[in-house]
Amino acid sequence: MVRKFFVGGNWKCNGTSEEVKKIVSTLNAGEVPSQDVVEVVVSPPFVFLPLVKSSLKPDFHVAAQNCWVKKGGAFTGEVSADMLVNLGIPWVILGHSERRLILNESNEFVGDKVAYALSQGLKVIACVGETLEQRESGSTMDVVAAQTKAIAERVSNWTNVVLAYEPVWAIGTGKVATPAKAQEVHSELRKWLQVNTSPEIAATTRIIYGGSVNGANCKELAAQPDVDGFLVGGASLKPEFIDIIKSSE
Ligand code: PGA
Repeated sequence: MVRKFFVGGNWKCNGTSEEVKKIVSTLNAGEVPSQDVVEVVVSPPFVFLPLVKSSLKPDFHVAAQNCWVKKGGAFTGEVSADMLVNLGIPWVILGHSERRLILNESNEFVGDKVAYALSQGLKVIACVGETLEQRESGSTMDVVAAQTKAIAERVSNWTNVVLAYEPVWAIGTGKVATPAKAQEVHSELRKWLQVNTSPEIAATTRIIYGGSVNGANCKELAAQPDVDGFLVGGASLKPEFIDIIKSSE
């Protein structure tokens, strides 16, 4: 398989140290396919990264949920890519819709973050996705293409990028995209990559789906040819995350 199945767990701004320990022990006990078959990355809040990294079984990896757009310095409240690298954190999620919409992160700002994080050696889960209003007005592809373009203009090597298509209307709403709807956008995104980056990048870049993925709907989504895995929010805090990890089997 050219594109190894990828399952990310985005814990968002959730958890106490007790809860985090519980999730980690559930993950460590889960019987899942080997890391040759599925790549698993969980993303706790910054403060829990060292705890999770040191207690999680080595087949699973950790991601930060954000990082600063450039080298650290006088940027109160921010965490730099360099610091993540220093702590041995291999991955970062960038451009999540909650940051784009609530923190007003523009396409260009997200593109700059992706480029800087990659330049420091981090691997990036870069998120794109349309709002309900944008979908209803028929501009889904224009929106996700513009978000992807801002990354493609700044990044030439996509080896360490996973693209997460997360329709905003599906995030945390219980309204998962139908497998056909997800496949349609994933396939369009892959075509966009083919035309605007290279056929090789299009063929090898994982495009994962996020938005109300759970233990019950993951198998059908995973069976779509252009769905290469998931970015899971709510269900990544629950034991059913193990079923999602196994969904490509
Ligand atoms: P959800 O979140 O699975 O809770 O819908 C997905 C995400 O925001 O990454």
